This record gives sequence, C-alpha cells and structure tokens, in this order.
Amino acid sequence: MHPHPTKILARVALDVPIAPWFDYEVPPDLAENLKPFDCLLVPWGQGRKVGLFLEYISESDLEPEKLKPILSRFDQVPGFPKSWQELVRFAARYYQRSLGDIALPTLPKTLRLPPSPKEKKSAFERVQARIERGVERAANAAGQLQSSSTSPKDLASQTRCAPRVLTPAQQKALAALCANPQGQYQAFLLFGVTGSGKTELYLRWIEHLLTQNSSAQVLLLVPEISLTPRLLSLICSHFPSEKIAVLHSELADLERAASWMMAARGESRIVIGTRLSVFTPLPGLSGIVVDEEHDPSFKQPDAAFYSARDLALVLASVAKVPIVLGSATPSLESWQAAKSGRYTLLELSERATGAALPNIILVKPEAKEAASLGFSKTSAEAIDQCLSRGQQALVYLNRRGYAPVLYCMHCGWLSQCNACSAYRVLHKLKSGYKLICHHCSQEQKVPRQCPGCGASHLEPLGQGTQGLEQTLKTRFPSARLRRVDRDVAKRKGAVEEILQEVHAGEADLLVGTQMLAKGHDFQNLNLVVVLDCDGALYSGDFRARERLFASLMQVSGRAGRVKPSPNTPRGTVLIETRFAEDPLFKALIAQDYVSFASQELSERQQVAFPPYQYQALLRVRALGMPQALAWLAAAKHVAQPLIGSSRGQNSGIDTLDITIHDPVPMPLAKLAHFSRAQLLVESRSRKALQAFLREWLEMIRSHTPAAKRDLSWQLEVDPLEI
Ligand code: ADP
Ligand code: ZN
Ligand code: ZN
Repeated sequence: MHPHPTKILARVALDVPIAPWFDYEVPPDLAENLKPFDCLLVPWGQGRKVGLFLEYISESDLEPEKLKPILSRFDQVPGFPKSWQELVRFAARYYQRSLGDIALPTLPKTLRLPPSPKEKKSAFERVQARIERGVERAANAAGQLQSSSTSPKDLASQTRCAPRVLTPAQQKALAALCANPQGQYQAFLLFGVTGSGKTELYLRWIEHLLTQNSSAQVLLLVPEISLTPRLLSLICSHFPSEKIAVLHSELADLERAASWMMAARGESRIVIGTRLSVFTPLPGLSGIVVDEEHDPSFKQPDAAFYSARDLALVLASVAKVPIVLGSATPSLESWQAAKSGRYTLLELSERATGAALPNIILVKPEAKEAASLGFSKTSAEAIDQCLSRGQQALVYLNRRGYAPVLYCMHCGWLSQCNACSAYRVLHKLKSGYKLICHHCSQEQKVPRQCPGCGASHLEPLGQGTQGLEQTLKTRFPSARLRRVDRDVAKRKGAVEEILQEVHAGEADLLVGTQMLAKGHDFQNLNLVVVLDCDGALYSGDFRARERLFASLMQVSGRAGRVKPSPNTPRGTVLIETRFAEDPLFKALIAQDYVSFASQELSERQQVAFPPYQYQALLRVRALGMPQALAWLAAAKHVAQPLIGSSRGQNSGIDTLDITIHDPVPMPLAKLAHFSRAQLLVESRSRKALQAFLREWLEMIRSHTPAAKRDLSWQLEVDPLEI
C-alpha cells in the first residue's frame, strides 16, 4: 500500500471484470462533492471510460506516479435512487461479480459511452431530442411496437373501453393487494389458472398504486415482449394518459435510452420490460409485477447469471414496496415460499370468462412403422373435426428445424457436429437443405453421399417443426397453416404478424414451439395437440419435469378460452405420450398444479435439491477434457482448508454445511471445440454458501493459474440447469 498524503484518491467501479475497482486521483474541483454512484469520466488506456464513484481512500496499491486523475463528472445520467444502489450492491455480492461489472452494463449504451469529440451533439442531447421528437411516440414505445403488429381496428376489438366487473376471486385478490400498507415490502404469489384474469388484476392494482401518489412508478417484468403484444395493448388502452416506458433488448439503443431516461427521471410511471429492466433506476417505485414468474427467460443465460425474478424480490424489499409474482404454474421455489408463509398466496382458480378448463386427453403415439405422419390417427381426426367446425387448432412440438438428425441406414452414420457433442439438425432453408448445429451455429450442406460408407441415401430421423409443417400441409391441404418458432422469428415482426393473423381468423392450423405456448389469448382456438414431449420425463436435469409440466399447462391453456356453446365444444388437448402412467400426466389431466408441486417438492426434499438446498456451479472451458477436469480438481483442492478448518470457522462460515461435489463433464461436454466440465457446490444455508463462495473465488483467483486464452471459468449462483 502506498499512502498518498498530498493527494485525494477515489475508488471507481468500471465494467472491466479484472478487478473489483480501480483507483484514481481526484481533481480539486471534485474533492469534496462526490457521492457514491456518481458517474465519472476516467482515463483508460489510450481512451476514456464511464465509471461509478465508490468511495474516497487515503492509500492505494498503485504508486503515486501511476495514478491518473479523474477527467470529469459525467452528468448525462440522472442520479441513481437508493433502492437501485442497494440492488446493484446486492447483485454484485450475491452473484460474485464486481459492482462495475453488474451496474454499468445495465445503462443504455448511448449513455454509457464517453462523448466523442466528432459528434456535434452529446449523447444526452440526442436522447433528449429523441424524447422530445415525439413525446407521444417515445412515450408510447409500446404503442409503436403495437402498431407495427396490430391494426387499430383489431386493437379496439381486443381491448375494451368500459371497466369490467371483476369476478369475486379477482375482487378478493385485489382487496388483499390494496390492503398492503404503503411503504412496506410484501411478496404476493398470484397463483391463477390460465385465463383466470391475472392480467386484469395487474391492471387494477397498477391503477390503485398510481392513484395513491402522483410520483408513483410501477415496474412490470415480462418474459418476452414480442410474445406479449396483447398485454402491452391492454396496458396502453387502460392507461391512455400515462407515458409508458417499454424496455427490452430488441429496441434500438437510442430508443431504449429514451425510455430508460424517462423512467429514471420518474416521467414514465409505468415501466414494462424484460429481465434487464429490473435494473432500471425508478425514483418513485411503488410496486412490482413479475408476470409468468416461473419463466426461465428471467434468468440471464451468461455473464452474471442473475435471476431477474429473484432480483425483483430484492428490489421490492430494499425499496419497501409490494411485489406480485403471477403464474399458473409457479416455480417450485416460489410455491414453497408461499406455503411456508414467506409470500402471501392469492388464488384465482377459475377462468374469468366462465369457460371451462380444457379437457386433457392422453394419446398413445403409433408404432414407428405406422406413424408415417409423425402424429397419431386420433390426433389427425381431432384436427379434421376442429377445422371442419371452423375453429383453430395448434400442434405443439418443442423442437425446431426439419429433423433433429440425419442418418445413414447402411452404416449408422449420424450428423454429429464435429465441434460439439451434439447432432447437427436438418434445416430447410431458401438455399436448400442444410445441417446446422444449434449449439455452435456451424452450417454445412447436406452431403450427397454418406460420409461414412458412400451410400447415396441419407434419412432424416424424427421431426422438427419444419418437417411437421410439411406433413401437416400434405395431410390438411386446405387449412391455412402457420409456423411459429425461433427460425421464423428471425425475420423482424414475423411472429407478431402471424399472431395477428390468428387473432383475425386468417389462419386455421398452427404449428410451433414454446413461443406459441406463451400467454396468447386466441379466441377461436379449440384444440391443442402435443407431440414428442416424453424426453423431458427422463432427463438428467432435475428441473426438466417442472419445466415440462409448466409448458404443457401453458400450451393447454391456449385451448378453449371462450365459453362453450352448442357448436363450440369444450377445448381439447391431446397429448401424445408413451408414459401415461407417469404421475406428472395424472396431475396434468386433473390440471392439478398443487398435487404436482407437492409430489415434486417431496421428492426434492428427500434428495436435498432446491428449494431445500442452495447451489452454485463452477464451470470451466478448456482445450481438452483432462485439463478441464484437472482445473476443477485443483479448485476443489484449494477449498479444502476452508471447509472444516479454523480459517473457515473464523470467517463465520458454517463449514459443515458445504458440500463440494466431484468435477464432471457438462451435459454438453464439447462446445465449439472446447471441452466443458462443471463442479457443483451445495449448502442448506444460503448465507454459508455465499460466505464460502466469496472466500473460495478469491483463493481460486490467487492459487490457480490466471485464466489463459485456452482456459476460462465462470461461476453461476442458483443455476437453473445442471
Ligand atoms: P390470465 O392472464 O390469467 O391467463 P387473462 O387476464 O388473459 O388471464 O384473462 C383471460 C380472459 O378473461 C381474457 O379474455 C380477459 O379479457 C377475460 N377476463 C378477465 N377478467 C374478466 C372479468 N372480470 N370478467 C370477464 N372476463 C374477464
Ligand atoms: Zn453410411
Ligand atoms: Zn456444434
């Protein structure tokens, strides 16, 4: 340490993962008036960076001549409210990241980049201009998004003018929400079957919060904006005079910056966004809604691996505001929390429109030889009947592409990816058939001859949505068929267009993945057919069953959302499965989430899995599997002194309660030529795990060789997939 008696020094957080903070000299004009989280412009290499002031310090690891002075304050970002500061501090600590690494990437890029001397206008001026250019336009980013996909006529028919009478269950739930005293944290789990009117309840509660206080702001987190146009249009029409800020990653950065700025200044009182928007600074935050709280897309898939749902709970608690988590199939973590009384359970057990829940029927898939269609005769006949009644049907297959693998009947050759431990998937593109790896994205032309034996014919094995589309076209030639999956979604606006056609009755038969299962309210859809879902029953991932149940409930919920009448029978769901005896299907047929949840929870309790156990996963990527495993073994070894030692005990870690498993190859052991392995750490105590991870990572950083180009590691706290 070098004391610097003549200088004032500061710690600054930067979005550079190599160190938790960086030391700078404070110029005299800033010497006394910096507050934590003030934005600063600092020199970095040959350029400049935007950072956050952390604290003044009196000594530094750096020698005096190496300390550079802070350039200036960076005023184009409004101050961050206390709740935001506490949230990012928590997230950095909990996910074992540096503060700068968590906080800075959450700011819109336009505002985070240092001003360039070439530009006439500063980023702030450009954002400001964007806001002013059409307060309506910017304010109604939601409306824009909407207008691209929905004609005003359809909008008007989908939304309505007069407030609707709440059902008794909705009234009761609303009363409970509104009874929550202001300035107090409380978490509610809104457990409502599909179509029970959760959205309506959110609207009423948001309205209540906004009328309480003119500066109140509400945050609504949704899994995926492009799949929830109806929710957006409902909110826009319910709150015509509010400037609604919509925040998601598909927005152009300037647009995102404008919405973000309006939210951060408190001008937008309703903020709707995907996971990253949990980090929007909201000075007037008064309540939070997390819709479809069980949805895995709330989890960041890389970098900090944060869970926006979990962080929303933290935000609510530091901001002292109520939060509602809504779902028809809550995550088992949330369900357990509600059962144990940590969250208040609110229930909507019937469909708001009076429609009955659909009839779920299990169908045995036909034997391979007979199944030339890829679906059973029963399913085909049900589709025929549904279409002939003039209603819509949906075929759900959660696998995109034409066929999952290409196969040689003569020598058994399979279209294995040479860079990954996975098969390349057959896709039909405009340019012809291609084999594409879904993991490393490598493409190749379909070989004319078998690379194994030279045979001239290769067979597609199994089917994906594209292949299924083909068979459906042949079997139902007069139906207007539409497909929805990630491949279709690559064209901007394509999914919105199709959803709109479905609403407008311009499509009869839908085929698609998970994307079609989300909260769409298709009025005329009466039949859902589910194909090929058995794989998840026997997956190695302990959450696979939970995800399967949730997505089957969700896709079933698309059927029969209107009240049956003489010529509209009750909605029907046909699920093709070979495992009709599985308790998961028993619960599904009864549409009994509660019994499914208690089965799963009791199993998880027996084997000590989450939510009865907390986990973290250390992963490594190296040139070969032996290196990967050896690195993890070394990391496990350095942890030994922490466990059961006096050092561990002194640091307050309950050392008996940490289990470090052996290193194992990851399920996808090879990805893009790299070998991948993982090591699981578990504890019954979140606190113990946190304390352990902090010390352990420090030791890993100092004991194991610094990450080289050919070896990198990462830590995921609360992993969703193991
Ligand atoms: P969820 O979000 O729980 O799936 P929605 O909010 O989409 O349910 O509501 C399902 C359907 O019920 C929608 O068509 C909605 O307009 C309608 N609805 C909601 N609340 C009521 C109510 N109180 N009376 C009549 N219909 C309602
Ligand atoms: Zn062959
Ligand atoms: Zn690959």
